[in-house]
Amino acid sequence: MALSVVSLYRDVLPRTNCRDCGFSTCMAFAAAVVADQHPLSGCPHLSRETVERLAPELAAQYADHRWTRRDMQQDALVYARERAAKTGLTDLPGRLGAEPMTLPDGSAAVRLPFWDKAVLITEKGMTAEDGSELPRLSATFLYNHLAQGGSRPPTGKWIGFESIKNTVSKQKSMQAHVVSPLVKRFSGRVGLLKERALKAGGVEAAGEGPTADLSFLFRPLPRVPLLLLFWDAAPEDGMEAEAKVLLDETITEHLDIESMLFLCENLVERLSAGD
Ligand code: SF4
Repeated sequence: MALSVVSLYRDVLPRTNCRDCGFSTCMAFAAAVVADQHPLSGCPHLSRETVERLAPELAAQYADHRWTRRDMQQDALVYARERAAKTGLTDLPGRLGAEPMTLPDGSAAVRLPFWDKAVLITEKGMTAEDGSELPRLSATFLYNHLAQGGSRPPTGKWIGFESIKNTVSKQKSMQAHVVSPLVKRFSGRVGLLKERALKAGGVEAAGEGPTADLSFLFRPLPRVPLLLLFWDAAPEDGMEAEAKVLLDETITEHLDIESMLFLCENLVERLSAGD
């Protein structure tokens, strides 16, 4: 018997809405069990026998993704990994500016620096060089870079995210997740921003791009630099602080639009570390 939300609610649960499970109704609990794999044993009013009897059916429908909420992040990771699998290991150094190497067991690998760490790419996939677990979003980002990365090195000509084709729908995200947090956190605190930028691996770059109160160059990936510009507030002139992250004109060869946004958000996270 397949267990839908309705059948679990109607045929199995006590329907008293007592809230002892932490959910406001039995129906909400049923939805959590069916769609989000919340443990059925979370309802203390079900007998152990009932929970054990239904466990195989629930496990089977979870395995079939029947009624479960789609895990979008996992889908994105699988898609990115499949994209990357179509590319050869041997052309990665030339395309991404990564380093070819040989592992102790004699197998070939490629080392790709990523912020202050690095990942090792082999025929089997990608792992963090330091053995730590690679966060799922970072892995997705890197697999997409592996698949897309072109060979053209940065030219030093900076462009704004808004000038890149097809970014209109992402402008709000850039404002909300990159520009606004930077302005809010560092307005009137340029010294703190400088300190954080240095700690995050940035290099002062006053001669790069438009003139700003603070200019910092970051190189999260060998072929993908970011230029952070910050203008502090000038209350006496009625000016609010402004921030901008510029990308090299070759960026579309190396990253898709979602990945550009992810990288800029990554920068904000790094600058906010320690708050
Ligand atoms: S503890 Fe059980 S009976 Fe109570 S609300 Fe939750 S699911 Fe319903």
